Amino acid sequence: MRPNRQGKIRMRGRTDKGSRWHQEIDLELAVTLVQEHAAVVVNRNTIRRLYSNKAFRRYILARDRHTCFFCGNYGDTIDHLLPRAKGGHTTPVNCVCACNECNQSKADRNLEDFIGDS
Ligand SMILES: [Zn+2]
Repeated sequence: MRPNRQGKIRMRGRTDKGSRWHQEIDLELAVTLVQEHAAVVVNRNTIRRLYSNKAFRRYILARDRHTCFFCGNYGDTIDHLLPRAKGGHTTPVNCVCACNECNQSKADRNLEDFIGDS
């Protein structure tokens, strides 16, 4: 990919209601989003976000069959393995289905801290 003069890549996508949006993002973020299957390359200046917020949620829950990644019980929330506060992104690679309880107790901890603590 090749950034524009400001060093940015254009990311475009659709909202839950189907309207188009776009924003300029750093090359590094663009590469991460593509590598983690949240976006695809349109051309060397542009990537396309694959899922709206609702579609992403549906996709993760269906992929994980509503089974909590941590305890195996029924789950209907999305958890970031590397918390967003620590630089994790909302991507299929970084997100799993979790039950409410595990999601609450994991809060903003890394997986390593969560397991070591329980
Ligand atoms: Zn759980």
